[in-house]
Amino acid sequence: MSATFTMLGTGGWIPTARRATTCCLLSMPEALFIFDAGTGLARLLEDEFRRELEPPAREVHLFLSHYHLDHVCGLVYLAAMFRGRGLYLHPPGADITGLDPLETIDALVRKPFNPGTLAEMPLDISVEPLGAGSQRIAGLQVKARQQLHPDASAAWRVADLMVFATDTAADPATAAFARGARLLVHEAWIDGAEEDDPGTAHIAREAYVAHTSARQAAALAVEAGVERLVLSHLNPVRSPEYHSRMLDTARAVFPATAILEDGERITV
Ligand SMILES: [Zn+2]
Ligand SMILES: [Zn+2]
Repeated sequence: MSATFTMLGTGGWIPTARRATTCCLLSMPEALFIFDAGTGLARLLEDEFRRELEPPAREVHLFLSHYHLDHVCGLVYLAAMFRGRGLYLHPPGADITGLDPLETIDALVRKPFNPGTLAEMPLDISVEPLGAGSQRIAGLQVKARQQLHPDASAAWRVADLMVFATDTAADPATAAFARGARLLVHEAWIDGAEEDDPGTAHIAREAYVAHTSARQAAALAVEAGVERLVLSHLNPVRSPEYHSRMLDTARAVFPATAILEDGERITV
């Protein structure tokens, strides 16, 4: 089985002209899986990506890692691209986040922040939270697990194709979760070289409360034995040169590492 992976939003926190916030697609014959609803979700309005929604028989499933706004602000865009098209929305279950998924989404998408709730949008949407463990979605095995983030987040795994792990401190359990998968999409918020210099060690300490370095993500990819690593959720405050250094740092540990541009595709 092969699939096409597309990054629609490669950034974290703040969208920039170059990098929208987190959203990616795993396009398969059976289904289109979307991970996170950051501002990158808006790229589904562009002709090139809108085509992904055209086969009417193909199910579309949107999985959320957590509720931080850079990952869910696109929920208020759904009516623009999914009107007249069925959509399954999978927030992480309460066992992962400690939050009731339906209440949390209703608290996020409602007056006066949006004209109405998700249920009031002209959408054929089914909200089906998924807890930790394994389940079959559109005929594919989908696994979820809790990650290390101040407001807990979920990692997702689709069969042996892909693991999506964003907004997490480096977690040794991610390697076991990703073992044998072809592609690991992992966040990288800093380079990691900050650890080595007493003058910058505080930057690493602060980042590691919630996030991972490029060096750590690469070490997890080695441990997991994946074929490829894509670094995502890049820090918008950092320069393109810094992001290039992150890529070099990761490649020194795990050569098959990439940083994609928004809209860039790879075959998995
Ligand atoms: Zn984030
Ligand atoms: Zn977050």
